[in-house]
Amino acid sequence: GVPIQIRQLSKVYGSFRALDAVDLDVRSGEFLTLLGPSGSGKSTLLMALAGFSRPNSGSIAFDGDEVTRRPPHKRNIGVVFQNYALFPHMNVAANVGYPLRLRRVGRAETADRVRRALDLVQLSSMLERTIDSLSGGQRQRVALARAIVFEPKILLMDEPLSALDKKLREHMQIEIRHLHEKLGVTTIYVTHDQREALTMSDRIAVINQGRIAQIDKPRELYEAP
Ligand code: ADP
Ligand code: ADP
Repeated sequence: GVPIQIRQLSKVYGSFRALDAVDLDVRSGEFLTLLGPSGSGKSTLLMALAGFSRPNSGSIAFDGDEVTRRPPHKRNIGVVFQNYALFPHMNVAANVGYPLRLRRVGRAETADRVRRALDLVQLSSMLERTIDSLSGGQRQRVALARAIVFEPKILLMDEPLSALDKKLREHMQIEIRHLHEKLGVTTIYVTHDQREALTMSDRIAVINQGRIAQIDKPRELYEAP
């Protein structure tokens, strides 16, 4: 993983401040959760980190390199969305290999990396399956495999489990946490679910109305008077 430094980051929509001068340091290899109610700015912050949304002011640095104006594909990040954003007309292997195709990685290496990524999410037997034929949990694993296939130093996840039922969600929380530890990747995880944040995180940043209201380890955050 690599450390992330966010300084005075602001994003406005018209006259509405979605992010209000956010300062945040994420440690190398850390699992940090952004926890806050709907509309608090979690997705906006994540999309700015991913490069899909352009902040109005402030800066973002990965490992000391300013990336604020760098396009998404040059940031070496993996992203997992709430709705998975898989390509339904392509099979599992093609979906997972897609980021490598964009980067013009050769066939043999692509096949090898796709197999390894699918091994990590326990889907190696499903290379040829169509997305339509998969369960919700399996689709989520495909999205995870696609996010890690080029070995990013940073993994961003926006409510990745919200479409799953409770039991599967709890199971996937543990799997995602294990995967994070195995890869050593700096992870920023967005949720509005307090229990999920407590279960998964090294630290929790509580976000409210575009500001970080509080940031601490799960235990300290909820045992404080
Ligand atoms: P969260 O992820 O915490 O639910 P968001 O970051 O998606 O919050 O949104 C923060 C606020 O910014 C919300 O009030 C939302 O309606 C607003 N917002 C987000 N994207 C846009 C946009 N493209 N145009 C206008 N307002 C937006
Ligand atoms: P999330 O579920 O991650 O909070 P939303 O459902 O709020 O996301 O938003 C989905 C998409 O719509 C995002 O691309 C966001 O930027 C955009 N969006 C959200 N709120 C508004 C808004 N008030 N006006 C325009 N676009 C918005």
